[in-house]
Amino acid sequence: MLPKPSASIGSISKVSAPLISSYLKELCYNPNNANYIHSRRIFEGILYPCVKTKKHYVSGPGGKVHSVRVPFHEHKEMEISDYFSALGYVLTYSTRTASFIQLIHLLSHYAEWCRVSSFVLGINTPTVVQMLFDDPPSSKLTPFHTLAHHGYGNKFKFSLASSISAGKGEGREDVRSSRISALQSVWPHHLIHPTPVQRAHASAGIGYGRSSIETSAELFGTPWGHCGESVSFPSMHQSITSGHPLGTLALSVKAMNCVIPGTNTIPVQTIPFLTSITDIIELLKVAGALRPMCLNCLYLRNNARGCIQDYATKYSVSGDNVG
Ligand SMILES: [Zn+2]
Repeated sequence: MLPKPSASIGSISKVSAPLISSYLKELCYNPNNANYIHSRRIFEGILYPCVKTKKHYVSGPGGKVHSVRVPFHEHKEMEISDYFSALGYVLTYSTRTASFIQLIHLLSHYAEWCRVSSFVLGINTPTVVQMLFDDPPSSKLTPFHTLAHHGYGNKFKFSLASSISAGKGEGREDVRSSRISALQSVWPHHLIHPTPVQRAHASAGIGYGRSSIETSAELFGTPWGHCGESVSFPSMHQSITSGHPLGTLALSVKAMNCVIPGTNTIPVQTIPFLTSITDIIELLKVAGALRPMCLNCLYLRNNARGCIQDYATKYSVSGDNVG
């Protein structure tokens, strides 16, 4: 079962801090939540205080970002240190079983709740939500649309995560470094500096000039720790390094929450009603919502010899035949 309300919340102006808190509480304390002991810790340690104080992180002693350590699939002690990662975590465990289509519904739901939450918290919305998932072997044998009604059972693993709240903001560098340390705590491979995205910007002549390179400066290309993958990759690091087939799908939060020009359609409001993968892909394409992996994430994947198929790329190039 997907969390309620699984349908769209409709108008953003109806959303308030108490509504968000009660929704999140229901999600985390629900017995259907496969991980409710840890989801409850995330609610009490991050989600609730964030909504109460209207910040995307919780200040700990000495003004440092407070994080909560929880098991996240293959990472036994993942450090969750911001509201949006916490939201992705509790949504990941909000359902015990789901078909692939329901997972895309859930990803869309996550995009919507990132938007409404940032409205209530008064901060910038993360730009991208991302899902990393077991790529079922059957998808290689069967036309993809026939997976529409395919339930994968309890063993089907997926992780939801978002990029860091966009723009400048207090605490975001600390959130970023806690993500990097979560990644490095399980990642056997070296992270290069500057990052591949920063290198690409530098070689295109953007940003650096003659001054020394500032590794975290986002204006000069994406630093490590920014993308949702910096949370989802450590959560499934054994699968990645063992070459287990995985898929990733990233969506633009803005494109998912805006009216598609020339229509009355807002993707997050329409997707809950779509039951055909072909229709969903068509909508994501028309909305311009598909976001391919960035060079940093490709570097992480390739360096670990991971077998991760990028579904945003796959869907972007696909026509009617999405198999
Ligand atoms: Zn990336």
